[in-house]
Amino acid sequence: MTLHFHKPNYECPNCGAIFLPYKRDTKCPKCEVAISDNDTEKYLNSIEDIAGSMRIHKRLYGKFTPGAWLTSNIMDHVQGIIFQIFDAMEEKKPKNQEQYLADLLDQIGWGDQEYSKAHIKNIAIEILKIYNTEKFYEIEYDKPLSPTKGEKIKMWFSKFLP
Ligand SMILES: [Zn+2]
Repeated sequence: MTLHFHKPNYECPNCGAIFLPYKRDTKCPKCEVAISDNDTEKYLNSIEDIAGSMRIHKRLYGKFTPGAWLTSNIMDHVQGIIFQIFDAMEEKKPKNQEQYLADLLDQIGWGDQEYSKAHIKNIAIEILKIYNTEKFYEIEYDKPLSPTKGEKIKMWFSKFLP
């Protein structure tokens, strides 16, 4: 089970750039047009939503990036990037987490999507705050338990029961 964002991509009404208007008084990262609070309303929980998926993924899979993460929209793609840089950070344990995440994002080839980079950096920094206050690094992987011998026998018996 993986958690996806069930929200449509938000498109800037002025330039068509796709981004996540996750806070009030926000501006388009590309053309800097002001985005109305009406528009941002349903995206205000986005940061918590992404952090929530990360918490669940780590418990289920032992890491933030699930084995099979299908990206069906741009925000899924953004989340995929976030999961991966946080997995890398947990492995590396850098002293300066914020710098480390920013450096990783710099290494991605953004082409003409340079504005997305700054935007995703901001999202990563918001998630980093939750990561540290809620101690995501302490989340333990719930390894699936294999059935005990008694349970196996019970399962075997139940096949013969009416
Ligand atoms: Zn715009």
